[in-house]
Formats: sequence, structure tokens, C-alpha cells
Amino acid sequence: MDANTPHVIIGASLAGASAARTLREEGWDGPLVLIGEESELPYERPPLSKGYLMGAEPREKLYVHPQEWYREQRIDLRLGTPVTAVDPDAHRITLQDGATLSYAKLLLTTGSSPRPLPVPGADLPGVHYLRTLGDSDRLRAALRSTGRLAVIGAGWIGLEAAAAARSAGVDVTVLESAELPLLRVLGSEVAEVFAALHRDHDVELRFGVQVESLTGGPDGVSGVRLADGSVVEADTVLIGIGITPNTALAEAAGLVVENGVKTDQSLRTSAADVYAAGDVANAYHPMLGRHLRVEHWANAVHQPRTAARAMLGQDVAFDRTPYFFTDQYDLGMEYTGYAEPGGYDRVVFRGDVAAREFIAFWVRDNRVLAGMNVNVWDVTDPIRDLVRTARPVDLSSLADPAVPLTDLPDAG
Ligand SMILES: Cc1cc2nc3c(=O)[nH]c(=O)nc-3n(C[C@H](O)[C@H](O)[C@H](O)COP(=O)(O)OP(=O)(O)OC[C@H]3O[C@@H](n4cnc5c(N)ncnc54)[C@H](O)[C@@H]3O)c2cc1C
Repeated sequence: MDANTPHVIIGASLAGASAARTLREEGWDGPLVLIGEESELPYERPPLSKGYLMGAEPREKLYVHPQEWYREQRIDLRLGTPVTAVDPDAHRITLQDGATLSYAKLLLTTGSSPRPLPVPGADLPGVHYLRTLGDSDRLRAALRSTGRLAVIGAGWIGLEAAAAARSAGVDVTVLESAELPLLRVLGSEVAEVFAALHRDHDVELRFGVQVESLTGGPDGVSGVRLADGSVVEADTVLIGIGITPNTALAEAAGLVVENGVKTDQSLRTSAADVYAAGDVANAYHPMLGRHLRVEHWANAVHQPRTAARAMLGQDVAFDRTPYFFTDQYDLGMEYTGYAEPGGYDRVVFRGDVAAREFIAFWVRDNRVLAGMNVNVWDVTDPIRDLVRTARPVDLSSLADPAVPLTDLPDAG
């Protein structure tokens, strides 16, 4: 490789833009190429199911950087350009038009895509997924004229879109196969809070249901048929049943792929000089002592920074505490840490759960694994400290808002 061989990033979204910025900040002065198949400038996705979907946030605010920034930084930004192959031995990638490009170091930030719902009728007009700016534009337009929205899947995207639709005055039914929303992530104790939130906003919640097909015809979807034979009427349907990492390139290139592109703690994949970060990476997390793939905004901002430093030869590891947030109606929350289903022995509440102003802690052996603050602010630092130190704390003090989180006595 000569000095004119670029560092190349595949995936021009939040993670890709974040890595490009860090490469420049950390002194990489040579050629830098950021390639994405979408034709938009790199943008942030969280508003697509919140403020932007509701028409409250302008398009310009979504972009990670304005167009000029890429020029000023001498970043060769190639949009609308899918990469079709990676050859790690030759250090070369192939673009859709057949052109090839050599790289010194390669970063994969190819993100993830909505999981398709494999039932008849899922391709009818009026059936939506929500991942891209275009998806959000189409759903927003549909909500203006729709009478009833059916949301399939009570995960973050489905619930946020349900809240946006209610604020637009649309009737909403949420259909979910589990017994509660967000059950796997939050467990039943906290999932109840989100069920109550949506009920209080007149969302019809149907749990424990199986979708058999979508009804309708060439003019559009008319409803959702459930396994019990009943039909939930809807002229717009949003499918939000999770995402899968975009690993096709990596797999075809022979990289180790297990629930995402597998990396070490420095975001190095199994192929020399190839790194991965953001939604697509299943990275070894030193604090947790296991691999973890995180599908959240903060990870897409911070993990690529570590990957960029590693690409420049720095000895770095990504061990930030996982963090994510949501906004639905007047509920804002932040979640810090990581608690697996079955991995904790109790949930401790501090504050007023009924008023939706509280912190929930997932605890094992008196140690805080994760904390979620709901309409309580400026507490993520002490929650993160509790998670990271894993200090056994007194649980009645943990539950008591009068005891500062920075001052909790040890477990007796
Ligand atoms: C509607 C919505 C709301 C969200 N809300 C929240 C929230 O409230 N809180 C939170 O923490 N997180 C939220 N998230 C999650 C967060 O936005 C993602 O974790 C983040 O976008 C991941 O960024 P990424 O850059 O890793 O991947 P992506 O954003 O998926 O970007 C990957 C990019 O790579 C491109 N690409 C893929 N393959 C190729 C190829 N072969 N060639 C060229 N380009 C390719 C894709 O087209 C895409 O542009 C939300 C996500 C969505 C969709």
C-alpha cells in the first residue's frame, strides 16, 4: 500500500460519519472515502419515528454534517453507491458499477434493515416499514389521510410511531405476539409502564396475538387477519418486528459473522485491516465479558470513534456502558447498562411509577446491572457509576429518592 491508498468506510450513516470525523480529528491526513447506498447525506434516525414523523423537526436537523463539511474535511463522499463485494486478501472493494477501489484500512458500518414479516399481503400498498428518511416521509404522508393505523410489533419503533400517530389524531391498534410490549428488553415489571402509557393515550393494545395475513387488494391494505380468524381493520399498517444486521458483504468476504460481524474489543474483524462498528458489529465488550451487538444511537456515535483510532494503530478498546433513550408522548427515558432476561433477580423502583417519574434498577446480588430513568434527568452519570463499579448496595436506600445515588450505603 502506498500513502495514496485511502481508508474506506462502507455505510454512510451515523456510524460511518462518526468514524470519518474521528479519523480526521486523530490526524489521518491522507485520502478518505465514505461510501453509502442511500442518496441522502448521512443522517440521524431517531427523529424518523418521533419529531420528524410528527412534522415537528425539519429535515436539515437530521443531517450529521452539512454537505460543505465533507468537502472541507476532504472526505470523498460517494452516495447512492452500493458496495457489492469486499476482497480482504487483495484489500479491494467492488462497487455496483463494477469499479474497484483499494483500501489501506476498511471499516464496515453497514447498519441493519427491518426484518420482513413473512405473511401474505405484506407487500400491499399502505404497508410500511420504518428505517430510512424516505420511509418516514411516506408514513408521515399516510398518517395525514389514514383513519386507522395497525402497528405490528410493540418494540421501540412501533411504540414511538404509535405515539406519533396518536398525536396526529389517528386511531391506533398495536398487535404484539408477546404478553407485553418490550418484554424481552425490559422484563414484565417495567414493560407494564409502557403498556399503561399507551392505554392512557387510547391506543388499543392486543397482546399474545399472531398475525396470519394482511387483507386488502391492489387499492391498498384493509386490515390484519389474526390466527384466531378475527380481522383488525386498518388502512395503514406499520411493521416493526425488529431488525437484522446487514452482514451480506461481510459474509461473502469470508469474515466471521455471528449475530453481526464479530469483532474484538478494538472493533477488528476476523480479516486483517477490516473493522466493523455500529448496528452491524457484534463486538467483544470487556466490561460485560461477552460479545454484544447494540442497535442504538449512542453506540453508533461512540463505537466508530474507537474503530477509527484502532485503524490508525492506537491501542484502544471500546468499553462504554450501553445507553439508549426513547421519547413517547410526554415520557422521556434513558437506559444505562445491560440486563439480560433472566440475568437479574429483582427490579427496584425509586420514585413515583404511577406518575411516570421514577428510576428502575435491574439488580443481581445487590449489584445494579442497569438503570432506566423515566422523566427524571441528570442521573445517567451516577447510574453509570453504579453499573461500572458493580458495588453491592443497600436496596432500601436504592429505592429511596431521599438518598443521593452517589451516597448509597453498601449492602449490609
Ligand atoms: C426510526 C428509528 C428510530 C430510532 N430511535 C432511536 C432512539 O430513540 N434511541 C436510540 O438509541 N436509537 C434509536 N434508533 C437506532 C439508531 O438510529 C441506530 O442504532 C443507528 O442508526 C445505527 O447507525 P449505523 O450507522 O450503525 O447504521 P445505519 O443507520 O443502519 O446505517 C448503515 C448505512 O449503511 C448503508 N449500507 C448498507 N450496506 C451497504 C453497502 N453494501 N454499500 C453501501 N452502503 C451500505 C445503509 O444504506 C445505511 O445508510 C432508531 C432507529 C430508527 C430506524
